[in-house]
Amino acid sequence: MIQLSNVSKWYGDFQVLTDCTTQVAKGEVVVVCGPSGSGKSTLIKCVNALEPFQKGTILVDGVSVGDPKTDLPKLRSRVGMVFQHFELFPHLSITDNLTIAQMKVLGRSREEANDKGLKYLDRVGLKAHAAKFPGQLSGGQQQRVAIARALAMDPIAMLFDEPTSALDPEMINEVLDVMTGLAHEGMTMMCVTHEMGFARRVADRVIFMDRGHIVEDCAKEEFFGAPRGERAQQFLSKIL
Ligand code: ATP
Ligand code: MG
Repeated sequence: MIQLSNVSKWYGDFQVLTDCTTQVAKGEVVVVCGPSGSGKSTLIKCVNALEPFQKGTILVDGVSVGDPKTDLPKLRSRVGMVFQHFELFPHLSITDNLTIAQMKVLGRSREEANDKGLKYLDRVGLKAHAAKFPGQLSGGQQQRVAIARALAMDPIAMLFDEPTSALDPEMINEVLDVMTGLAHEGMTMMCVTHEMGFARRVADRVIFMDRGHIVEDCAKEEFFGAPRGERAQQFLSKIL
């Protein structure tokens, strides 16, 4: 579903990604972890064409992300992305947040977009909050709205960039529960997270990045059993 081959990226002279090769199969859940600055966010932004890359190829469902002929808005609409900061539109109601991209990007009618939006809002347990504004919801609730908004676009895969790291501890689980439910339903997911409990329970594979390189890429049993590299071991010993 998602295939990266020898992806390299530079910010000016600084090489942020070096020869990154990996893939996420349909229905697979891959957790990406690693030290701050190792390139995790950059890697998943490249998958969604939010950042350009200079070498290598990325295919999403067979479509080449780096190909200038690719319709990027269409591609982005098919790959849901959820960030650390919820990035809801503060001046729009929850309903409008859920429907605006469906109408503008997918051309759905207001009625259809409303139905879809409410279905996913219900799914994340927040149907009663449809008329509120983002500022009236807790951080965890806002993040669940952000997930519902992405799902309403009928994505073929979901990318998460530390969706719980800005949340108070008691709200982390409500977001991880939604993500776990999605994983169990077979959603293809690439998740940057340091929630190793989630990785242990839900991930199929774990990727560990260090200084722009993918240094571990293995089944979670193997990753948590005996990580091969010293950097990954050091990292795990700090966060577990
Ligand atoms: P964190 O865990 O802190 O979120 P990360 O692994 O997601 O880190 P990235 O945000 O991908 O790391 O950044 C990788 C490197 O690229 C860092 O050294 C960062 O300073 C650098 N970087 C990120 N964005 C830019 C940019 N727009 N211009 C220049 N350098 C950047
Ligand atoms: Mg990051």
